[in-house]
Amino acid sequence: MWIKSNDTVKVITGEDRGTSGRVLRVDPTAGKLVVEGVNRVYKHVKRSQKNPQGGRLSKEMPVQVSNVLLVCEGCGAATRLGVRYLDDGAKERYCKKCGAGNGHVAPLKARYAKKAVKK
Ligand SMILES: [Zn+2]
Repeated sequence: MWIKSNDTVKVITGEDRGTSGRVLRVDPTAGKLVVEGVNRVYKHVKRSQKNPQGGRLSKEMPVQVSNVLLVCEGCGAATRLGVRYLDDGAKERYCKKCGAGNGHVAPLKARYAKKAVKK
C-alpha cells in the first residue's frame, strides 16, 4: 500500500464517505489505517488508575486502505496512485489524474535508473 502517515486521504465509502483527513497511523500488514476524524466510535472505559473518571472515550478506529483515496498534492483531487521510477533510480508514487509526483516510496537505487519512463 502506498498511503503513508501524515498523508491527506478522502474516504470513498461507508458512513464517513466524502470526509477527508490526515492519516495518523498505518498498519501495512493488515492493510489498515487510522484517519483523523474518520470511523469515530465511543469506547466505554471503566474507572481505572489511568482514567479515574471512566466514561465514554471517542476515538478513531482503523479503516481498510481500499476505502480511501489519496488527495493529490498537485491537483487536489482524490486519486488513485501509480508508481514509477525516476531517472536517478528513486521510486515515486504519482497521481493517476494529473501525473504529479506525490513523494518517494523507496530509497534511491541506481540500478533502477534505466527503468525510468521517458517523458
Ligand atoms: Zn493530481
